[in-house]
Amino acid sequence: MEIVRDPARIRDVIERLRHQSGRPIGFAPTMGALHEGHLSLIRAIREAGTVPVASIFVNPIQFGPGEDFERYPRPFEKDCERLEAAGVACVFAPASFQMYRPDHTVYVVEERITLGLCGSRRPGHFRGVATVVLKLFNLIRPDLAAFGRKDAQQARLIEKMIEDLNLEIRLLICPIVREADGLAMSSRNSYLGPEARRQALCLFEGLKRAQESYARGERRTNRIREIVIEEIGRRSLARLDYVEGVAWHDMQPVRELGPGTLVAAAVWVEQTRLIDNLWISPDGEPIL
Ligand code: AMP
Repeated sequence: MEIVRDPARIRDVIERLRHQSGRPIGFAPTMGALHEGHLSLIRAIREAGTVPVASIFVNPIQFGPGEDFERYPRPFEKDCERLEAAGVACVFAPASFQMYRPDHTVYVVEERITLGLCGSRRPGHFRGVATVVLKLFNLIRPDLAAFGRKDAQQARLIEKMIEDLNLEIRLLICPIVREADGLAMSSRNSYLGPEARRQALCLFEGLKRAQESYARGERRTNRIREIVIEEIGRRSLARLDYVEGVAWHDMQPVRELGPGTLVAAAVWVEQTRLIDNLWISPDGEPIL
């Protein structure tokens, strides 16, 4: 597995891989601290018959002031071992100064999908995400890219950026990978102490109750929100950030849930912010 740090070199390395293999390139961008959720993206791009390429880059411009940029885990060697074992051909891992020169002034701003949910709680976050993903797409030039549905608003943002900016990239949006008890895997779960880890399950449990309620026929967003809010309210270390029912296509609130909508939620557990969602698939299946 090749590890490339220099953005000036990555295009040549990828082009060589493309020619040597005779296969298209599949790409999974990450911030490292890899877990099974990330590895599921690698598997998906492998199964699609593409050469798997990953990036590890903790993107400074998607973190707000006071967020966890400095303390974000960076177990780089372990990450590389896991990617190599997963069959990744090349890892792109630039330094911040190589991605953003001091005179960087151009950003990608989406003006509807990113306004609510995490977008309104983390100003500038999705501008940072869209900008870095477009830069990574331009450097790697993948045929296929994989993102996780755990970050649903982000996945929809990338899908919309591909549509609106005419990128020639096929997008795979992969299912949420969970711990055995249901907690959505996240690099930030490592911040949780034992009691916080136990209580963090309220997010999944709230959404699971919402799923059951939906399966029994409940469609009113307000009622479903109450269920999630109640579950989170029962934990002393947890504080609701938001829970909303939104349409997948524009991430705007809906009064009734149905195919193509989701219940998205964020919760603070002590100092750690976690997100998760319940997706109502186009054929009406409530999927966690
Ligand atoms: P991150 O390293 O957190 O920026 O995540 C990199 C990619 O992995 C994003 O596309 C995430 O949506 C995806 N991802 C993170 N956690 C999970 C998970 N539990 N299940 C599926 N995909 C995930």
